[in-house]
Amino acid sequence: MQKTTFGERGDLLSFGIPAGETHGRTFAFKPWRTADEKAVCAIRDRNRGITPAAFASEAMAHFLTEWGSADFTKLSIGERRLYLARAYAGDVFQTWIQLRRAAMGDDFDMQLECRSCRTEFVYTADLASLELNVADDGEDLRQQVALLDGFDWRGEDVRTVTIAPLRWSLYETQTASINTGMLKVRAAAQAICGINGKPLAAPLPESALDLTKRDLEAIASALDAETLGPQLAIEEFCPHCGSRVRQSLSWTYDAFFSGKASGRGGA
Ligand SMILES: [Zn+2]
Repeated sequence: MQKTTFGERGDLLSFGIPAGETHGRTFAFKPWRTADEKAVCAIRDRNRGITPAAFASEAMAHFLTEWGSADFTKLSIGERRLYLARAYAGDVFQTWIQLRRAAMGDDFDMQLECRSCRTEFVYTADLASLELNVADDGEDLRQQVALLDGFDWRGEDVRTVTIAPLRWSLYETQTASINTGMLKVRAAAQAICGINGKPLAAPLPESALDLTKRDLEAIASALDAETLGPQLAIEEFCPHCGSRVRQSLSWTYDAFFSGKASGRGGA
């Protein structure tokens, strides 16, 4: 993978849809006009209980005319959403941020709070300089993780797992109430695509993952180590005490597409 920025990357997905040795990478939106503003609000009204990522999918499905070189104008909203759900989350986060850039530009005000002295301040993120990791054509993003303790799967002693980057579907089902432990297990179950060097025909059920804490952490940190797509961590120094302040980009719709500085939220 290579590091680049949104400003340099333009409308080319970080991974895209594999097509032989290359990947379909291009994507495009229709412009965001007043009729679309009403349409997006109507989506919100119809889906009050929807998760932030699923709402983002609905909005992206509305605006995308092309994605991963697929012609979205010929697809229904449901078919478009299926494309997004199955894709790597990095590609979809990138698309979402690119939609924000296209509709509202690069300046994004975020309300940050220093954990040391509690000073709150507004930080203006420049989305053009936000970094993202992009894959080379034909690059295999799977990686092997050795387990110290292993686990049993249908009588087999599993000592290594092969993991792939997380899919957007994981985020679509992520409600605010899910705890980090559950999320870690769910992410591991989705990411594991092979055991002991052999590919799995179907994902392991969460209940099959009877892992020790250190094995679960090994998988979680491998997933975190070098993630495809945008790097969502924002870092700035507190203007009052100079401490480092780290926060995730507030990517949820209300924060990301409003003109006001937004507080905490997002992934
Ligand atoms: Zn401070």
